[in-house]
Amino acid sequence: MPGTFIYTGRFAPSPTGGLHAGSLVAALASWLDARAHGGQWLVRIEDVDSTRCLPGMDRTILQQLAACGLHSDQSPLYQSTRLALYQQALDRLVASGQAYPCGCSRRDIELAQLRSGHVKARHGELIYPGTCRNGLQGKPARAWRFRTDDPSRIHWQDRRLGAQVQDVSAAVGDFVLKRADGCFAYQLAVVVDDAKQGITDVVRGEDLADNTVRQMLLQRALGVATPRYLHTPLVLGANGEKLSKQNGAQALDTHQPLAALNQAAAVLGLTSQHVAADALAQWVAQWQCLYNRAP
Ligand code: GLU
Repeated sequence: MPGTFIYTGRFAPSPTGGLHAGSLVAALASWLDARAHGGQWLVRIEDVDSTRCLPGMDRTILQQLAACGLHSDQSPLYQSTRLALYQQALDRLVASGQAYPCGCSRRDIELAQLRSGHVKARHGELIYPGTCRNGLQGKPARAWRFRTDDPSRIHWQDRRLGAQVQDVSAAVGDFVLKRADGCFAYQLAVVVDDAKQGITDVVRGEDLADNTVRQMLLQRALGVATPRYLHTPLVLGANGEKLSKQNGAQALDTHQPLAALNQAAAVLGLTSQHVAADALAQWVAQWQCLYNRAP
């Protein structure tokens, strides 16, 4: 039940591939943080983007976690079962004027950017120039977007990275809440679920840090609490790039859970352990010293 725990944390993998050395860092860190606070730790399967999920991968991830001794304190929540809640949240944002329908295709956005002389992209995503802000001009609605204020400079504090700032309207623009293919966007689903599950602390990989301000804007617009955030260090592959499912990171070898855990722990600055059963408990105490500064 949300609200009955002082601390509720979560690990929220997308079942687009199995866990790899990088995702285990986030899983272990979120688990340790929950234990260090005497809180609960939940696993949420983020299968809202049905086009990218692989069948059976949810079970693989849960087995990999279990092999490492990381068990969710409640049955895992599946985002694919919660579409009605995301729609309700979107309806509220539309009713309050904070979301609007957009009829632009990718090509329309590229053309509008060319016309204005600003070709801006971020992680391959085009920054939306706001074409449909004031109406669809006869086009059918394709996607739904969040209306960002201009400027919208937001400051926030990360428990590891320190003070952060982002101007969402300049860096991202009016971002998508529901896509043209009908899938709800990660930003909306994650905010609805973090709020409904009473998540007090988000501990996840640093590659996700720049989503935080978009999520904070949605939390404010929906009138829900903003959790604390801690973004964990990334594991880099041999090519110096972040290890990810997309660049072919090797699946975790859970036949050797202690080796996998030790590798993840080292990334978090924790010392290596020799006995699997003991390792997690030892790291809770270390984590406490390293990361649990007074809020
Ligand atoms: N589902 C996201 C991922 O696997 C993580 C979302 C989050 O922790 O906020 O990258």
